[in-house]
Amino acid sequence: MPFKSMGLAPSILHTLKIQNYQKPYPIQKEVIPAILDKKDVLGIAKTGSGKTAGYVIPVLMNLLGKSTVNNRHIDALVLVPTRELAVQVNDVFRLFEETLPEQIKTLAVFGGASINPQMKALQNVSILVATPGRLLELVDRNAVKISNIKILVLDEADKMLNSGFADEMKRIFELLPVKRQNLLFSATINDDIENMNQILLRDPVVIKIESDDEDIELIK
Ligand code: AMP
Repeated sequence: MPFKSMGLAPSILHTLKIQNYQKPYPIQKEVIPAILDKKDVLGIAKTGSGKTAGYVIPVLMNLLGKSTVNNRHIDALVLVPTRELAVQVNDVFRLFEETLPEQIKTLAVFGGASINPQMKALQNVSILVATPGRLLELVDRNAVKISNIKILVLDEADKMLNSGFADEMKRIFELLPVKRQNLLFSATINDDIENMNQILLRDPVVIKIESDDEDIELIK
């Protein structure tokens, strides 16, 4: 399915054209319609597959006209294992936000950097891209509230678990509202990811992209 047939906003199609994204990558063909359809998604795909734009575009579409940012509440939370990925994901959100007809603001927060500028920058943020430890520090300081989010994204979930973030993630999940859309991306599938799938996702669309070719194994 080409981007043009996915029901995307003209401003997003414009950015895709400027960026010379001529056609959707295999994961995007599957993941964009599923997220637009408000389904939970389990995506097994590595960096380089185009997974970031695959969730950034439909997350922005799902928030258009629905953003309810106030009193430090955010609309969407993207958890990532590293500062580098936080910055990368933030850049992709900003790329597509620039041309939107309404303002949707994304911010990346991560450890190893001063917390005060991050606390100040949280004003009117709709989408927060965060490493788990720093997110909890901000929650504990009452700088952000995650109890009303509409969408949760876990990017490189396997790496987050391998990096020892399991306890932080558990605490974060307890703070989230029951009703929300969940998007879980991982390069590998193992018992821990399967466990997280069982706990977090509701009847997910499962999309597996084989790494070195363009085959898609659509499990469901
Ligand atoms: P990711 O796997 O999300 O890190 O994306 C890998 C790279 O592919 C990034 O540099 C993107 O800008 C690029 N990219 C993503 N989707 C497309 C597309 N449909 N056409 C061309 N480039 C793309």
